[in-house]
Amino acid sequence: MTQPFQIIAETDGGGRRGRLHLPHQSVETPVFMPVGTQGTVKAVAQDVLESLGAEIVLGNTYHLYLRPGHEAIRRMGGLHRFMSWPRALLTDSGGFQVFSLNALRKVTDDGVRFRSHLDGSSHCFTPEHSVDVQIALGADVCMAFDECTEYPAERTRAQESLRLTMAWARRSLDHFRAHRHEVPWQEDGARSPFPGPQVRGTGGTQSLFGIIQGGMYRDLRRECAERLVEMNFDEMGFDGYAIGGLSVGEPRALTLEMIAEVLPLLPKDKPRYVMGVGYPDEIEQYARMGVDMMDCVLPTRAARHGLLFTSEGRLNIKNKQYAEDQNPPDLACDCPVCRRYSRAYLRHLMQAGEALSGTLNTIHNLAFYLGIMRRVRGELEAGSN
Ligand SMILES: [Zn+2]
Repeated sequence: MTQPFQIIAETDGGGRRGRLHLPHQSVETPVFMPVGTQGTVKAVAQDVLESLGAEIVLGNTYHLYLRPGHEAIRRMGGLHRFMSWPRALLTDSGGFQVFSLNALRKVTDDGVRFRSHLDGSSHCFTPEHSVDVQIALGADVCMAFDECTEYPAERTRAQESLRLTMAWARRSLDHFRAHRHEVPWQEDGARSPFPGPQVRGTGGTQSLFGIIQGGMYRDLRRECAERLVEMNFDEMGFDGYAIGGLSVGEPRALTLEMIAEVLPLLPKDKPRYVMGVGYPDEIEQYARMGVDMMDCVLPTRAARHGLLFTSEGRLNIKNKQYAEDQNPPDLACDCPVCRRYSRAYLRHLMQAGEALSGTLNTIHNLAFYLGIMRRVRGELEAGSN
């Protein structure tokens, strides 16, 4: 049997070139994962994501649970089939959105009660419920339910948050191991009625990652990592480890310090995921340190606001200086947008409020991010010994 995570090359600096074997896709790592909040990477169609080389995208449990509902998605064969995405998917636990979108939430040891940001209706997420929703969605990788510690946070607050996250990790793991056979694509022989790609699992099971919290306290981060690594169900621990609660407003040196503190404590044969980062130079730096997976809304969100990431830095396409600039957005980029359109045209689309503006800007930014990881993978492979 193929190992779920295979390390192909390692460097002295700790960087790893790997391959994560998931039921719907073998993902080349280090990987950047575009964020598809509501079952779509905003403004970009699935066939374009495929052509850009995206091998795994994120779905948001909180949003999909509220609309269209996880049971509806389960009845339609799971999120892969619903959104016609044949490659890998990762779902978050919903915790981050519950905490960031709900001022009136109520947290107890059992879970979090909150009101929908759509219609004000009352809901409760527990670790068990979050896992059930993620199994119904059928992502290749699920996340344990955690509490994301805000920044800044007093030590006592970070400690309490860590206590809750550990208890919830235990319950997430137990519930996941007992129920993961309920995934909608497990025994799925049905063919899609569409002529598009056949969306089906290729065997294997869903994975569950644990999440390390601890605020900006090095010892709490260490404690959290050590306890999560020890945690297991029938001698099977988490399938991977995520570092959460970063990029929440802290200075970048602190983000780096927390990642550097935790990485050496994690098992080498499991993937490591830093959630919610970052700028192009950050994802490159973390990948070289041994982070295998990252996700961020930055390239997609910034694109819709006219901010393009290029080999020469950031370019704000709204600026008047591009009004008659016939160069491509990035002279060094060979993405479909840079091969075809000028800065002047992209600026015009933005000024005119055209829907194509967000689409083209997003395609370039994603191509740029995915290109960085492709280059880093090549360099890690060449630089290993
Ligand atoms: Zn481009």
